[in-house]
Amino acid sequence: RFISLEGGEGAGKTTALNAIRAALQAQGCEVVLTREPGGTPLAERIRALVLTPDPEIAAEPLSAEAELLLVFAARAQHVRQVIEPALRRGCYVLSDRFTDSSYAYQGGGRGLEPAWIAELERRAVGLLPGLTLLLDVDVAVGRARANGRDLWPDRIESEQDDFFQRVRAVFRERARQDPTRFRLIDASQDQAGVAAQVVDAINAYLTK
Ligand code: C5P
Ligand code: MG
Repeated sequence: RFISLEGGEGAGKTTALNAIRAALQAQGCEVVLTREPGGTPLAERIRALVLTPDPEIAAEPLSAEAELLLVFAARAQHVRQVIEPALRRGCYVLSDRFTDSSYAYQGGGRGLEPAWIAELERRAVGLLPGLTLLLDVDVAVGRARANGRDLWPDRIESEQDDFFQRVRAVFRERARQDPTRFRLIDASQDQAGVAAQVVDAINAYLTK
């Protein structure tokens, strides 16, 4: 009953999330919608620390290692405080990003070792979605749609496209290696097309 939605910048996650939530609710499921990094007050504060440029620390760019540990601190709290209790109550949990994003961004993007991420996942998360929808779109297309929104400040100048190509490659490779959990969604389509694909995937998952 735990579903995650993953994808790069400008893939249309927000629109897809609403379509998924509606599809689940139409089947009578109680849905807890949440997001990462974030999902609890503490984790949202960590998100703000990591994502929002703070003039006081602008001269001190966040190191890749600090970023990984902060994102996992947020995730550990999110799992314990929100996701596990909701699953115990019998709700569906729909998360906008989960651990796959750490493999993609902190691993592929920032070059940290996947074995380290796997170790944190095993010790601090211990939970895998039953279904992960990957909204996959060409980096240039996604970038044109996102138009600078949501990009991490220290990534704007340098290596943007390389960075996001690596992120996309890791997502796609993870989907290829675990076809049972992942559904690859063609996010180059318009919003209605993407919504139709995710709703089909959700309905197939529910009737399985
Ligand atoms: O989900 P959304 O696109 O709003 O994500 C906000 C930002 O957080 C994105 O720019 C994404 O690059 C970044 N992110 C990250 N590492 C994660 C999760 C999100 O770099 N583990
Ligand atoms: Mg978004």
